Formats: sequence, C-alpha cells, structure tokens
Amino acid sequence: MAISLTERRQIENEMIFRRINEKVGADLDTLDAMHIEDGNRHLVRDDDIELHFQCECSDENCNARIPIKLSIYKQIHINRDSFIVKLKHQVKSIEDVVLSEANYSVVKKKHSTPEPNDILKVTTIDNSMH
Ligand SMILES: [Zn+2]
Repeated sequence: MAISLTERRQIENEMIFRRINEKVGADLDTLDAMHIEDGNRHLVRDDDIELHFQCECSDENCNARIPIKLSIYKQIHINRDSFIVKLKHQVKSIEDVVLSEANYSVVKKKHSTPEPNDILKVTTIDNSMH
C-alpha cells in the first residue's frame, strides 16, 4: 500500500528521534566496555537506570521527554517497527498503539519504510501491485 509523502516524512521523523535515543544507549554501553577494560567494573552502571528519552512521535518539533528504564527501552525496540511516544502523541494514519503505560505509549508502524540513511541506497521495488 502506498503512503503519502507527509506520512513518510512523519515516519522518518520518528526514526530520527529513535536513532538519537539509541545513540544514548550505545554511548552508555561503550562507556561500560571502557570501564570493564580498565578494570573498573564497579563503575559499570546498572542497566535499569531510568533515562529521559526523547519522545519518538512524528512531530519534528516535539521535544517531550519520557522517563523510561534503559532495559525496557531496549526491549521495546527489539521490534524495529516500534516507537515510544508520549501518551496521545500517536498519529492514527501511520501507527497503532500496541501498549499504553502510565506515561508513554508504544506504537507500531502500519507501513515500514527504510531507515532515513538507507533511502539513497538502491531499494528493491515490489512490482506485484502493478
Ligand atoms: Zn511527541
């Protein structure tokens, strides 16, 4: 099913927000690896620290923060179609809420689009619809 440019843009915004959040997690992992390497295992953080992640909704101007434990954040994003947004920040036309917690919702994309970085690469076009 084709999606509009607006919808595609919205999905891309979410992916960009998610990438920022994942970089935070990855940087912390790098820091831990350094501590282990230096023999400072006691400096390794508890994986369940609560971080204030950027809301991953489709509004590029949204700067809401969602306090969520890193371990939970990682678990949700094992599914690459899932994004964490503040309550009511979901956009019906592009996503469905699959889980609602006290201060955030997990939404699942109705359409999958390539991650923004992959757009310039050659993609396989499905011609079965034509
Ligand atoms: Zn938002």
